[in-house]
Amino acid sequence: MSNVVTEGNDVLRVDHESGRMNGRVSCKKVAIIGGGFAGIEAAKHLRGSDVHVTVIDRSSYHTFQPLLYQVALAVLSPSDITRPIRSILGAAANIDVLLGEVEKISRENQKVILKSGECLDYDYLVLASGSTSSYFGNDRWSLHAPALKSIVNAVEIRTRLLLEFEKAEAQGQRSESVPDIHFVVIGGGPTGVELAGAIADVCRNVLNRDFHYVRPREARISLYEGGPAILAAFPPKLQAEGLAQLKELGVAVHTGVHITDIHEGAVFVEGKEVASNVTLWAAGVAPSALGAALGVPLDKRGAVVVNEFLNPEGNPNVFVCGDLAAVTENGRRIPAVAQPAMQMGKHAARLIIADIKGKARTPFHYFDKGDMATIGTRKAVARVAWPFKAQWSGRLAWITWLVVHLSFLSGLDHQMSVLFTWLYTYITKTTRSRLIVIPERSPLDAE
Ligand SMILES: Cc1cc2nc3c(=O)[nH]c(=O)nc-3n(C[C@H](O)[C@H](O)[C@H](O)COP(=O)(O)OP(=O)(O)OC[C@H]3O[C@@H](n4cnc5c(N)ncnc54)[C@H](O)[C@@H]3O)c2cc1C
Repeated sequence: MSNVVTEGNDVLRVDHESGRMNGRVSCKKVAIIGGGFAGIEAAKHLRGSDVHVTVIDRSSYHTFQPLLYQVALAVLSPSDITRPIRSILGAAANIDVLLGEVEKISRENQKVILKSGECLDYDYLVLASGSTSSYFGNDRWSLHAPALKSIVNAVEIRTRLLLEFEKAEAQGQRSESVPDIHFVVIGGGPTGVELAGAIADVCRNVLNRDFHYVRPREARISLYEGGPAILAAFPPKLQAEGLAQLKELGVAVHTGVHITDIHEGAVFVEGKEVASNVTLWAAGVAPSALGAALGVPLDKRGAVVVNEFLNPEGNPNVFVCGDLAAVTENGRRIPAVAQPAMQMGKHAARLIIADIKGKARTPFHYFDKGDMATIGTRKAVARVAWPFKAQWSGRLAWITWLVVHLSFLSGLDHQMSVLFTWLYTYITKTTRSRLIVIPERSPLDAE
């Protein structure tokens, strides 16, 4: 199916199936900042429509963040959970992809300004730049306790974890005595729980066969959470089951305690020093700084307050989606996770198309399908909200988690590769990505 659009003297033919156009592209320009869950979904739903879209991202690839911890634990490779944004969207002729970091947004002049100095005009802006790790003002802690937010972080964490065993093994070869190894995870939300569970699982079931002197299964793993319970967003029954599953894996869980300082090799728990070989930060995220660059009201976390059409009040041509948007429905804040981000991106695209067709805008509603967290192999907790309501834990929740995550991975090739790797890992109890990638400045340099 195709239709003809005219602009001045230009006649444009738009093929809605392939998204290809003959002649110049159509008049309205849509700038999408961020090729994450929200931005990609918005772009996909504008494919072949009568707008010209530019997707700008500082990375050339989309990252499936829910599986980052498996890269950090050497189960998956970076390429299993990333996909070039061009390969997701490149075939659509009305979509350009631009690699670059956005520095400023001028709402008055409708321009996006990149760090490179390049300027891009827009008629509609979809701002979906996500969130970053937050150390609550203690930025120095990031040197000693990396967070898990990107592929670069995941590879760094993998290197730090595996290096500890190499160092202990080397000491064992020299002196036949091996040091104790203690890993500390700070933050008992889904990311912290998944990290702690996966470290325990990989130490006990995978790495243990790799070494002659060090015994990875004897490594201690501690999880610290400042609140009264882990998995705060889950129902109490699932919190308790998640806790039991972590304990079964040998993770020492400490709730209601605060980390007061972090140094290289140690964390301070309520002021008391605890030795830690590797400390990982999963305690805080903050909305992307581009929210503040918009110059519109923010909530206390720094997310952009938007109305039911996902616009900051008084800015109908600016849509803010995903982790960066503070959306409230029925008095409840919509969580900053992947499903709402994708739904917001899709809805913003629909509203742009409605505008162009002269149709009325419809408000955004979040369709909650539930949430899940996995705890090592064969264990998980799941709050199912659709197509029926249920609360599962253990193996059934884990299988649900596997199916859901596989189905949301972008591309059949990635789905097949990840499925194969999971089966291989499950059957052989080994992982294929146990690579220590030493950065130019490595943790070893300090020695
Ligand atoms: C370790 C981890 C595990 C998670 N697990 C789950 C889970 O199991 N289930 C779940 O539902 N959610 C999970 N989440 C949360 C989920 O990934 C996020 O809610 C989701 O990615 C938000 O989508 P988004 O589009 O708003 O932002 P993102 O997906 O983060 O995308 C933002 C994009 O903007 C780009 N960007 C940022 N700033 C700029 C700039 N200045 N210029 C250009 N580009 C820029 C970034 O490069 C990025 O590509 C997890 C998150 C993490 C970190």
